[in-house]
Order: sequence, then structure tokens, then C-alpha cells
Amino acid sequence: MVAARRLARHSAGVKAVVVGGGIGGITAAVALARKGVEVTVLEQAPVIAPVGASLQLGPNAVRLMKDIGLLDALRSVGSRPDAVELLRWQDGAVLHHAEHGAAAEAHFGASQLDFFRPDLHRALVESLPAGALRLGARVVGVGETPNGAEAVVESGERFSADLVVAADGIRSPMRQALVGAEDPVFSGTVVYRAMIPFERAADLHPDFVNRYWLGHARHGVSYRVGKGELLALNLGVQRAEPSQESWTLEADPDEALGYLEGWDEAFLERIRRADTVLRGAVYVRKSLEHWSYGPITLLGDAAHAMEPFQAQGAAQAVEDAYVLAECVGAAPDDVSGALSRYEDIRMGRALELQRSSSGAGSELYLPDGLEQQARDARYASGAEELRWGIRQSVWEYDLRDALLAG
Ligand SMILES: Cc1cc2nc3c(=O)[nH]c(=O)nc-3n(C[C@H](O)[C@H](O)[C@H](O)COP(=O)(O)OP(=O)(O)OC[C@H]3O[C@@H](n4cnc5c(N)ncnc54)[C@H](O)[C@@H]3O)c2cc1C
Repeated sequence: MVAARRLARHSAGVKAVVVGGGIGGITAAVALARKGVEVTVLEQAPVIAPVGASLQLGPNAVRLMKDIGLLDALRSVGSRPDAVELLRWQDGAVLHHAEHGAAAEAHFGASQLDFFRPDLHRALVESLPAGALRLGARVVGVGETPNGAEAVVESGERFSADLVVAADGIRSPMRQALVGAEDPVFSGTVVYRAMIPFERAADLHPDFVNRYWLGHARHGVSYRVGKGELLALNLGVQRAEPSQESWTLEADPDEALGYLEGWDEAFLERIRRADTVLRGAVYVRKSLEHWSYGPITLLGDAAHAMEPFQAQGAAQAVEDAYVLAECVGAAPDDVSGALSRYEDIRMGRALELQRSSSGAGSELYLPDGLEQQARDARYASGAEELRWGIRQSVWEYDLRDALLAG
């Protein structure tokens, strides 16, 4: 661990290098720039390609995006669901219904927004300061220097800064370099994902109600994204054969249908209407003792990749980005101290979400029987803590309170 570095200047003079231009890295760069930090994002991909399917950002993240100044950009490419429903796998009977319109937005101080992931990514990239993004820049090393830290790109070019943020995703070469070799762990779940043009599914899903079918070791999801022009489908399969962690691996829709014998025809028909589906295994990362190593820190999936059962992976990267920028902005002359405060505020919450996301999967995937009946009775009970759905407590957490306290 390195001694705290005193830079004796304002954040206007602070330089940051962000390794990785995914949702976490770009949000961090925008948030840091808003604090006056001069930021460079090094992304290995030669172009911003339209990769991935759907992505939801919960109110806990959208609230922070609003503070960062990104709400209008996000709203221009995302939609707010009107309601969320949990359904029985066999016949689509409604187990729980939560309204998600203006009343939910007022309760949480922000709404959930649902996106086609490439649209969200593009909107974030367009919000970066001009010239901040360097594409085709694969980082092969990070390290400390007498004045801060540096990232070294494959071409040999070196980027010096006061801090380096490793936001290089679940496979994070930077984490491997800082913490030691240790691979992501297969969670046991494989997810099939498809996007259908709305006009091909209008009869099946005409509204903005997000629907979740709950069955034994499988759960299906269907919701409108963007401005409603696409219907997003997800099918989670537990205890699946290990597969590749991928956003682009194509599979035949019949492969997904093969897991759904006896399922609600309304969900099966949605999958039949997909030309192709993407198959990706869910991997997670073990929790760490530290995220920050002197002037270098981890952010997003590189720090805390989690199971997707609460749709919080990217939302947690947004929480990281917000706190990081607040901490650096509050102590620009003590970057190492700011990074220590960042990890103090963020690590507990991220660990809790890693655990509860895994627990949420077990609850969604119960086999029919006593436990499932007790779960469904709880959903039907009208309990106040479920008024806004099963993610209510996750969304109520306001990071700004933690910042005030920490
Ligand atoms: C099936 C599934 C569904 C999900 N749904 C949701 C959801 O609805 N809501 C939600 O909040 N989260 C969701 N998530 C999680 C979410 O997708 C991730 O948590 C989030 O994308 C992580 O963002 P990131 O910026 O940390 O990493 P990434 O998006 O992976 O970005 C990392 C970037 O770093 C770059 N990179 C890597 N190595 C280098 C290098 N050496 N040099 C330069 N660049 C490099 C990569 O090219 C990439 O662009 C889901 C995950 C899965 C698997």
C-alpha cells in the first residue's frame, strides 16, 4: 500500500485515466469531468459496436445519473415501465403487480429506465468531453509512478495521471495485475436473450408492463425497451451446462424452448418469434479485501461482478462512478485518501448486492411446493415492503446519504 499523496491543487488540475469504456467506465469519466477532472478513457475496442441486448437501470442509479447531468440523455433512449408483474410459469397467473408510473417515480426520486444496451452506451459516450475517448487502446499494464500512476497501451504509449480507474469489466486484466491471477467463477446460470421488433410482437405485449414468469430453475422476462420499438426477452436457466460468458454468442431459439416444457404459451410464443437468441453464461467475481491500491482503483464488474437477478450490475457501477467522483472532487489534493474513502463507502453495499442478487435467484427459481406457495402468498399479501415490487429496498437505498455519513 502506498503512502497518501498530497498534490496541493484543485480538482481542475487533477488528471484521471479510465481503463475500459463500458457503462461503468464512461459514467465514471463523465462524473469525474463534471468535477473538473481531466479525464482520458482507454478502450480496447476499435469502435463503439452495438453489443448486447437489454438493460434496466433501477431508480437507485437513475437518481444519481440525474445528479451527474445525464438524465435527459438517458430518457431520450430509455423508457419508464408503467408496472412490473410476477407471473406463474405454467399459466401466466399474476402473483404480484406493482405500479411503476408517476407515483413510483415520486417515491424513489427517479424512475427505472429500460434500454436497448447499445443505445444507452452510445448516449453515455456522446456525453463525454470532446477527445476524452481513445478507441483501439488496449491497456497492457498499470503501475504507480513518482507523481501518480500510469497506464501502458499495447502500442507502448504511456498515459500518466493522478489516478487510474480500472473499469475493464468482468475479465479485468487490471484486476489480475493488481490482485493476482484469479478467474471469474461460473454461477451455474445461463441466460438466453433476444430482441424482437415491436411490430412483430404487438399482439403479445402491447403495454409497458415488465413481466417475469417464475418457474423451477428457470425464469422468463419480457419488457419493452428504448422508446418501445423493441421487445426484450430473457430466459434464465439454472444448473445449466457451463458455457461461455458472452454478449454475442448466437443460439437457436429451439435450444431455449427446450428448457420450457409445459410453460405458459404466452412466453413460448414470444421466444418462437425471435429469429435468433444470444446465449451467455453468468459469471461472478469473488469479493476483495480492497479495491484501491494507492492511486489505482477498481470499478464496476472488475470489482464486484454479480448475478443479474436484481438487475443491479450496471447500477452498482453507476453507484461506484458517482462516489468516486464525489470523493475525488472533495479531496483533489489527496487522491489516495479519496480512493480509500471511495472503497469504504462502496465495498459494503456492493458485497451486499452480490449476496442478495444470488439470494434473489434462489427465490425466483423455487420448485413448486411449500416454499413456493409461501413465497407466492407473501407476494399476494399486499405487504408494504413489496408495494413497489421485490427490488424495493435495493432502490430505496440513497447513496447520497452514505456519502454524507462517510
Ligand atoms: C444476462 C445479464 C443481464 C444483465 N442485466 C442487467 C440489468 O438489467 N441492469 C443492470 O444494472 N445490470 C445488468 N447486468 C450487469 C451489467 O451488464 C454489468 O454489470 C455492466 O455492464 C458492467 O459494466 P462495466 O463497465 O463494469 O464492464 P463492461 O461493460 O464489461 O465494460 C468493460 C470495458 O472494458 C474494456 N476493456 C477490457 N479490457 C481492456 C483493456 N485491457 N484495455 C482497454 N479496455 C479494456 C472492454 O472492451 C469493455 O468495453 C446484466 C448482466 C448479465 C450477464
